[in-house]
Amino acid sequence: MSGVGTAGPGEDSSGLAPATRCVALGRPAPVGGAPVNPPIVLSSTFHHGGDRVYARESTPTTEAFEAALGGLEGGRALAFASGMAAAAATLALVPVGGVVVAPRSAYMGVLTLLREGAAEGRYTVREVDPTDTQAVVAALPGADLVWLESPSNPLLDVADLPALLAAAREHGVTSVVDNTFPTPLGARPLDLGADIVMHSATKYLAGHSDLLLGALVTADRIPDVHDRLAHHRHLHGATAGVFDAWLALRGLRTLAVRFERACANAADLAGRLADHPAVQRVRFPGAGAMLAIEVRGGAPAAEAVCAATRLWVHSTSLGGVESQLERRRRYASEPDVVPDSLVRLSVGIEDIEDLWADLAQALAHAHDRTAAPAAGDRPQESGHDRHR
Ligand SMILES: *Cc1c(COP(=O)(O)O)cnc(C)c1O
Repeated sequence: MSGVGTAGPGEDSSGLAPATRCVALGRPAPVGGAPVNPPIVLSSTFHHGGDRVYARESTPTTEAFEAALGGLEGGRALAFASGMAAAAATLALVPVGGVVVAPRSAYMGVLTLLREGAAEGRYTVREVDPTDTQAVVAALPGADLVWLESPSNPLLDVADLPALLAAAREHGVTSVVDNTFPTPLGARPLDLGADIVMHSATKYLAGHSDLLLGALVTADRIPDVHDRLAHHRHLHGATAGVFDAWLALRGLRTLAVRFERACANAADLAGRLADHPAVQRVRFPGAGAMLAIEVRGGAPAAEAVCAATRLWVHSTSLGGVESQLERRRRYASEPDVVPDSLVRLSVGIEDIEDLWADLAQALAHAHDRTAAPAAGDRPQESGHDRHR
C-alpha cells in the first residue's frame, strides 16, 4: 500500500545507520509544501477508487509507523492495538491441533495466552528452558511455531537465537521472536533467519509510558505470512489507533539516544548492585536497559524496596524514560520459575547518581527491615511501616 509513510528514504534505507533510520523513516514524500511529519488522519473510511478502503484495514498514520519500524527491523511491519494483540495474531497461524514450542519463562501474558489455548484444546504447547539450546532444538520436530524471547521478561534469560532460528528453519517451524527488550537497535532477528519479529511498542519504541501499541514485522521472503497477519488484524479488529501510532512514531525518533543512555545507566547500576549487601543476585545479560535483582529477605523485603523508592516509579511496564521497578511474583499468573524475591528494574534516562541514591536508600531500608527480625524482635512490624 503506497501510504504517506512509505515515501522518502523509507524506500531505500539500506545505507543508513540505525540511529538515522529512527529519525528519517516514515515521513511524507519531500515535496514542496508537504508536512515534514505524517498527519494524524482521523477518518474511518476512504473514498472509493484508491487502495485504502476502511480504517480497520489500514490508515496513512499507522502506515507511517509501519514504514519506520519495517525499515529498522528489515522487513514489513504491521501495527496492532497492543503487544498482546500482535502476539495473539501469530498464534492464529497455528492450525487447530498444532504444536507450539515456547519458553517456560516467556512474558507472562504470552505464556498465559498459550496455556489457556492449550487448555481449550486448540493446540499443544511444549514448554522448554530457552537457555538449553539442545532441549529447544529437540522440541522442534513436528512443531508449527516456536516462540522466542531473548533476553526474556523478567528473568533476562538469553537464548542462542542464531542456532535456534537456524534449527527452526531446518525443521520448517515458523519462528516468532519477541524483540521488545533488545529493540531493533540491539538485535535484528530477521537477519538471523526469524520469520516474524514481535514488539510491544508500548515499551522502548514509544518510550514514554503513554500509549499501548504492538507490531509484527515479517521477513520479505514470506509475503503470504504478512498477508495472513494483515487479514487477521482486519477481521479481529486488532487495528492500532491512529493517535497511539502517531505518538509511537514520535517516540521512535529519539529511540537511539534514549536507549543509549538507558543502557549506560543499566550497566552502571548492575555493577553497583552486585556489591550491595541487600542484593543476593543481579541478572544483567550485559545488553539492554533491563535488570533484575533478587533481594535478600524474600518477597517481603522485595516489596519493601519497591515501596521505599521515591524517584523510581513503583508500577508495572517498562521501557519508558522514567525508571520503574516491580516485584513480578505479585501477579498470580507470573510463572513460578521467577523467584519470589525478584524485582524487575526498567532503567530510564535520569541522572545515574539520582537513580543510585534512591535505589540505595530503598535497599538499605529493606535491609534494616529484614535484618532486625534475626536479632530477635520485629519492632518495625508495628506503626507506620505497615502502611507503606
Ligand atoms: C509488555 C510486553 C508484552 C505485551 O505487550 P502489551 O503492549 O502490553 O500488550 C509482550 N512481550 C514483552 C516482552 C513485554 O514486555
